Amino acid sequence: MSTSTQTNAGGRGTKFDLVALIPFIGWHLLLVPGFLFIDFKWEYAALVVATYVLRMFGVTAGYHRYFSHRAFKTNRAFQFVLAFLAQTSAQKGVLWWAANHRHHHRHSDQEQDLHSPVRSGFWWSHMGWFMASDYEATRLESIRDFARFPELVWLNRFHAVPALVALGVMWLLGGVPWMFYGGVVSTVLLWHGTFTINSLSHIFGSRRYVTTDTSRNNFLLALLTMGEGWHNNHHFHQNTANQGWFWWELDATYAILKVLSFLGLVSDLRLVSDQTKYSYRAYGEAQQAQLAAEATFNLWRKPAPPTPSKTPDEVPALGGLAPQPLLKR
Ligand SMILES: [Zn+2]
Ligand SMILES: [Zn+2]
Repeated sequence: MSTSTQTNAGGRGTKFDLVALIPFIGWHLLLVPGFLFIDFKWEYAALVVATYVLRMFGVTAGYHRYFSHRAFKTNRAFQFVLAFLAQTSAQKGVLWWAANHRHHHRHSDQEQDLHSPVRSGFWWSHMGWFMASDYEATRLESIRDFARFPELVWLNRFHAVPALVALGVMWLLGGVPWMFYGGVVSTVLLWHGTFTINSLSHIFGSRRYVTTDTSRNNFLLALLTMGEGWHNNHHFHQNTANQGWFWWELDATYAILKVLSFLGLVSDLRLVSDQTKYSYRAYGEAQQAQLAAEATFNLWRKPAPPTPSKTPDEVPALGGLAPQPLLKR
């Protein structure tokens, strides 16, 4: 059923709740006095890297590959750990995040897409939609498979709790400097690192697969986001635990998931089949011409987004409405 939020995609008539935005804006503003008044030490740089990597893994393996795409299985306890870790990044509730992401895949770069740089511009796709109060409600109809778990519903409702706990841990371990570097600097970097996938990876990079959107593969973004920069692969076939499909496509999240699978914490990692991976070799002239035209796309010239065409991973295959969750038996 269409709602007013869907017709509002793209920022038309958008509302911003300044009180709710105090943490988001405040964390950015705190960077100035923090850098001015806290003497830099190399241990703080290491702390930023460590807290960034740990929580980016929560974002990519948790919010994205598990809760949005069901790309592997785990047990109920580790499912909660993944959700909690993801939410230490202060990107709202796990059900909210995953439901909106499924919506993005359903409508990528089409009129209803909440964060399409092609439709609504770079800044809107990067952070405007995230800041707008229009999309606060969780699209429960898109995430019923995980909304069956009361602990996830609770976490989704009180979504700031994990981030506050993480901040408290920083305080206990190292006082104000650790709170600033491990809590503020690292969180701001995580926001913008994650947001590049909605903005830059639909603008800059190469396209190997014909998809219904402008998704790109971008090595630099894959480094920053621990594997999410292979976004054209991902839009082509969404449910895989690995998003880097060739040896040079670094995917740190997948490497960590492999280690966790050896430890028995996760299992049944879904991988891309050779048939899907090499399907681009069978492209005809029309598809090659489309990819070539899209390769020259840039935001300033704004050609029409590509027309929808079939991919091996049509919307029902998202798994979003499947009744059974992926818990291990
Ligand atoms: Zn995308
Ligand atoms: Zn996705």
